Amino acid sequence: MTATVMEARDLVQTYAVRQGPFQHAALHAVRGVSFELRAGETLAVVGESGCGKSTLARMLTLVEPPSEGRLLIDGRDATRPTRAELRRLRREVQMVFQDPYGSLNPRKKVGAILQEPLVINTRMSANERRKAAREMMERVGLRPEHYDRYPHMFSGGQRQRIAIARALMLRPHIIVLDEPVSALDVSVQAQVLNLLNDLQQEFELAYLFISHDLSVVRHVADQVMVMYLGRPVEVAHRDDLFAAPRHPYTQALLAATPAVNPEHRGQRRALSGELPSPIAPPPGCAFHKRCPFAVERCTSERPELRLVEGAEVACHRAEEVLEAERKSA
Ligand code: SF4
Repeated sequence: MTATVMEARDLVQTYAVRQGPFQHAALHAVRGVSFELRAGETLAVVGESGCGKSTLARMLTLVEPPSEGRLLIDGRDATRPTRAELRRLRREVQMVFQDPYGSLNPRKKVGAILQEPLVINTRMSANERRKAAREMMERVGLRPEHYDRYPHMFSGGQRQRIAIARALMLRPHIIVLDEPVSALDVSVQAQVLNLLNDLQQEFELAYLFISHDLSVVRHVADQVMVMYLGRPVEVAHRDDLFAAPRHPYTQALLAATPAVNPEHRGQRRALSGELPSPIAPPPGCAFHKRCPFAVERCTSERPELRLVEGAEVACHRAEEVLEAERKSA
């Protein structure tokens, strides 16, 4: 069986935010996120902007520790590591951002950008670093002459290749990809997704793929976690989720992406209303004010994740939602 490289147990992130000169409130950015990520697998995390995806990414890349819960990387506790442990663990988890231009130092040439992680984290000689950088450039489809060029001299797709190469320089086991293709043209998106797929197979990488775009998620994910207002509301295998979503929020996200499943076009109900504030989330099910299936119970009792036909769903009426989905198919 493939090794688990990352495990999150009930991760919580809460921030204190100012509300007036003397008052503070708790902003619940992430609550109750648990998952296991195995080598060679992709877990996609989807949801609207403000659902907690980016906060989750910061915890998983060890930028900030969780308020509660536990994070394990390669079986080692990464929740509150010492400085020395943090240094070691950070080699295992790297990140690729949405905006490849903003994440690359515009004053450094590609060769120097790729060598930087090696300078900081290894004792490799200058020759070894140069060789490693050139090999990685070739691996991600950059040409040798690109070594001495600056980021602004590249297209968006090429810049994302540079960012991916930099993330791989320390040979991590896990890459957190935060909307890695959403700033790119559709034709370039496919090329970058194919590259990520090849690299995953070659290096047995585990990907945590954050995206709002379900048409992209459908191509890359093994498992999908749908988040709403900081909580997972559906966790399912990709095929199960796209064939028969069990949560009304997942259905609404799919309705907003008809290209994912054209036969359902117009049959699922699209999302209405705004995402509530994470400072004062609605009682009961946080989705109840936007949910076409809501009943009295939903306004007072928060649904926990439970198994419904092979997928985990946080909905009191998941069976009826699934039944309605099947009838409309
Ligand atoms: Fe809708 Fe109720 Fe299910 Fe929440 S628990 S998603 S409000 S039916």
